[in-house]
Amino acid sequence: MTSYVLVLNCGSSSLKGAVINHQTGEVKLNCIAEKLNSSDAHITFKYNEEKETEDLQEKPNHVGAIEAMMRQLKNLHLHQDIQAVGHRVVHGGEIYRESVIIDEDVFINIQKCIMLAPLHNPAHLIGISAAQSVFYDVPHVAVFDTAFHQTMPKKAYIYGLPYDLYQKHGLRRYGMHGTSYCYVAKEAARLLNRPEKGLALVIAHLGNGASISAVVDGKSRDTSMGLTPLEGLMMGTRSGDIDPSIFSFLHEQEGWSLTEITAMLNHKSGLLGVSGVSNDCRTIEAEALSGNERAQLALDIFHYRVAKYVAAMTVAAGRLDALVFTGGIGENSKTSRAKIVGQLGFLGLQIDDQLNAEARFGQAGIITKSYNPLAMVVPTNEELMIAKDTARLAGLTSA
Ligand code: ADP
Repeated sequence: MTSYVLVLNCGSSSLKGAVINHQTGEVKLNCIAEKLNSSDAHITFKYNEEKETEDLQEKPNHVGAIEAMMRQLKNLHLHQDIQAVGHRVVHGGEIYRESVIIDEDVFINIQKCIMLAPLHNPAHLIGISAAQSVFYDVPHVAVFDTAFHQTMPKKAYIYGLPYDLYQKHGLRRYGMHGTSYCYVAKEAARLLNRPEKGLALVIAHLGNGASISAVVDGKSRDTSMGLTPLEGLMMGTRSGDIDPSIFSFLHEQEGWSLTEITAMLNHKSGLLGVSGVSNDCRTIEAEALSGNERAQLALDIFHYRVAKYVAAMTVAAGRLDALVFTGGIGENSKTSRAKIVGQLGFLGLQIDDQLNAEARFGQAGIITKSYNPLAMVVPTNEELMIAKDTARLAGLTSA
């Protein structure tokens, strides 16, 4: 019998699920439930390249979505092969340095971290309870986005603020995309045919949300996202680093509230805010090519800031063996990679145009003429990482 892991990523009104063979990475079934808790709630299944949508009107919530998933698994005779459930959890605070089997204490600890991820952790808890009620006889595992970064040294995660704010509220840098970094660091080592120990990587996860990390010996040394995913690189709709005085400036000049300014920084800034066109890199690249100067400026800022952060993360890593690109932009935009690497000649990196054009659309590979250091592309697979961690903790594998 093949054993599969069900990987779940629960938001407040959505739920993504994937049934994955943790050994081969094969994805047997994908599903996405949307508009939960509304009259339009529905779930779409993807199996063998075919899509099928089902209304969830009778039970338009997370339990309804997971029950629909169970029915679908039974139809496909797959339900008995689900040996464990892995839950993506955004914030594990300082409590979790690695994934854990979910028990009552873990549930309470995820609740304690709600203050740090008020949009995400409550939805995860709803998803965990719903999944436990339907998949009641298999282990459930929490895989935290923040856990991988718990190895950062204090000098990297303490802000230059009164220290008691850290002691009182846990106000510090936590970082995100940890599951992706963990997977990509292992893959980079495998592809370079080197052990993770001794390897100094700077990994740029460039998607709609973007961050960058220094990973040495397979451990995070520093990362650009902070208390929340707003800090660091400029992103699709997020500003990334700004002068904090902008808050009082905008409050005084525009009369905006803290909530309004925070929303603007999260949803109306970044590539979208500068270009005025879109948050989507493909659209902005096309606009820039057709002569839109603001679209070009948005890209110039994005590339420059990534390059600047690569240099900063090289300080954190102590040296650089490989710069690794991942995420939607990092895996696919050869223009962005060429522009970023083009600003890093002083580190000894030199792009190879042909290799850069080849490593796209799921294809990994080295993209520089230089080998020491080198730059490479490694497609991320957070779901597979969650499935592997879940399988390991559930005792389905010895690896
Ligand atoms: P998320 O943070 O939502 O997971 P993704 O990792 O899926 O984001 O990345 C989405 C980004 O990747 C978008 O800006 C999209 O335009 C960009 N992208 C995807 N394919 C390409 C491509 N071929 N060229 C340039 N950018 C691309």
